[in-house]
Amino acid sequence: MSLDLVVASHNPKKLREFQRIIGERMPQAVVHPYDGPEPVEDGLSFADNALIKARTAAQHTGRIALADDSGIVVDVLGAAPGIFSARWAGHGAGDQANVRLLLNQLADIRRPNRGASFHCTIALVVPEAVMSGGHEFVTDGVWRGALAYEPRGSHGFGYDPIFEPEGLEVTSAELLPEEKDARSHRARAFATLLPELEWVAARLGTSA
Ligand code: IMP
Repeated sequence: MSLDLVVASHNPKKLREFQRIIGERMPQAVVHPYDGPEPVEDGLSFADNALIKARTAAQHTGRIALADDSGIVVDVLGAAPGIFSARWAGHGAGDQANVRLLLNQLADIRRPNRGASFHCTIALVVPEAVMSGGHEFVTDGVWRGALAYEPRGSHGFGYDPIFEPEGLEVTSAELLPEEKDARSHRARAFATLLPELEWVAARLGTSA
C-alpha cells in the first residue's frame, strides 16, 4: 500500500531532489507537491522554519507533510547566510545575485579559510486526522565543503555552483543529480528521517 506525503517547497528544483531521494529510498511513498498558502518563515532556526512549513502544509492538506529548511553556512561569516540563504541579496533576489554577493563578501579570503557547509533540516508532521495523537519529528543533515572562487557547473540550484564538497575537486553543480543525491545534506537528513517514516507507515498499515 502507498504512503501519501505532501512535500512543502516553493522551489521546483528542491522538490525534484526530494522526489528523487524519496523515490529511491521509499518506493511505497507517493509524493504530492504542496500548492496551498505559504506561511511566513519567521523562525530563528532551520528547525523552526521547517516546522512552520510542514505544519501549514499538514493543516491545509490533511496529509502527512514534509518540509525542509536549508541553506549554506560559511565559517568566516559566523554561520551566515544560514536561514537567510534564499534571500541573502534581499527579498526576491535570485540565485545568481545571492551567489555573487557571497563571493564578493569572501573576496579577500583564501583557502583554507573558505570552509562552508550545506545544512538541511527536515520536519515531518503527521496530522491528527491521519494518526491518532498526531506526530512530529525533526532531523538534520550536513554536507561539508569549501567555497569556490568562481561559479562552475549547471546542475542543482542555489549555491551549488560555488560549493566544493569535501574530498571532491568539482562543485556540487558539476555533479550529476544522482551523484549529488548520494551525498547531499538533503539525502543525509532524509536517511535519518527514513526509520521514522517507516515507523509511521507501519502504524498506518502501509509499509511495503
Ligand atoms: P529555503 O527554500 O527557504 O529552505 O531556502 C534554501 C536556500 O538555501 C535556497 O534558496 C538555496 O539558496 C540554498 N540551498 C539549500 N539547499 C541547497 C542545495 O542543495 N544546493 C544549493 N543551494 C541550496
